[in-house]
Amino acid sequence: MTTENVMSTVIDGKAFAAKVRSRIAAQVAEIKKQGVTPGLAVVLVGEDPASQVYVRNKGKQTIEAGMQSFEHKLDASTSQADLMALVDQLNNDDSVHGILVQLPLPDHIDEEVVLNSINFDKDVDGFHLTNVGRLSIGAEGIVPCTPLGSIMMLKDHLGDLSGLNAVVVGRSNIVGKPMAALLLQENCTVTIAHSRTKDLPEVCKAADIVIAAVGRPEMVKGDWIKPGATVIDVGINRLDSGDGKTRLVGDVDYAGASSVAGAITPVPGGVGPMTIACLLHNTMQQCCRLNGLEIPQA
Ligand code: NDP
Repeated sequence: MTTENVMSTVIDGKAFAAKVRSRIAAQVAEIKKQGVTPGLAVVLVGEDPASQVYVRNKGKQTIEAGMQSFEHKLDASTSQADLMALVDQLNNDDSVHGILVQLPLPDHIDEEVVLNSINFDKDVDGFHLTNVGRLSIGAEGIVPCTPLGSIMMLKDHLGDLSGLNAVVVGRSNIVGKPMAALLLQENCTVTIAHSRTKDLPEVCKAADIVIAAVGRPEMVKGDWIKPGATVIDVGINRLDSGDGKTRLVGDVDYAGASSVAGAITPVPGGVGPMTIACLLHNTMQQCCRLNGLEIPQA
């Protein structure tokens, strides 16, 4: 899954995600023979342009994997009660095995209440408190897609992660914290850095693995990276490219970091494609769980 360039190895998330998706498509074909077709329902509230692109891509890749895709697009003014009524309907629909409510939700809706109203055995984001708890104690459950994709790439590239120093920059519930839990499960020595961390460049420089999940364009510089370290750039930031268009950059200064790191994920084409592949994996897992079938591992 890796391609050499003149500097560090580029971890090709696009190619790896294609491999994962084809493995899932084969698993789907197999369980269809037993009369079960995995179904993923995606709920979009409002018209956030980035969310619309994500939802469209998710639907397309769900169908390409042989699953059923159910899209529910609701007006931005939809009440929390109406959204929860839809979630309840999907919780009770046997053709739906995964329910994803696209974030962010409009300000008048309480995200936590809505996410916890999803049946945790249909939660494919891993945001339900039951699945959060399972991950924190190392029990079997659904793992958030972006950290899952990131750990799969790390294991594929490095093999055994035991004993490595990992620094996760960012402590959000959807990326930083679950990422740290997964690295700990792999026996890394984990540091979680955030906006109050003192001397962040030095903290990062001690790491064999740096995960950047900050939401600040190109913040992590090349001279923060230990030579030979592996860098996973989770960030997706849209910058004005000056010609009326936008370009995507990560949270890592790619030009600087790629001349020092042993391996690095690009943006785009790194973590992003793995996130949707892991969503399909989680849907497949929940479908098997709900139907009493053997649960495929990542
Ligand atoms: P959040 O805004 O929820 O969290 C950002 C984290 O970064 C916070 O913990 C914050 O610290 C920390 N932070 C902010 N500024 C600094 C700083 N100057 N120094 C150190 N830490 C800082 O973001 P998300 O976790 O949701 O997303 C992070 C990035 O990942 C974004 O670019 C997002 O677009 C991207 N993303 C990509 C996905 C993909 O599929 N590839 C999926 C999800 C997210 P504090 O807690 O102290 O405020």
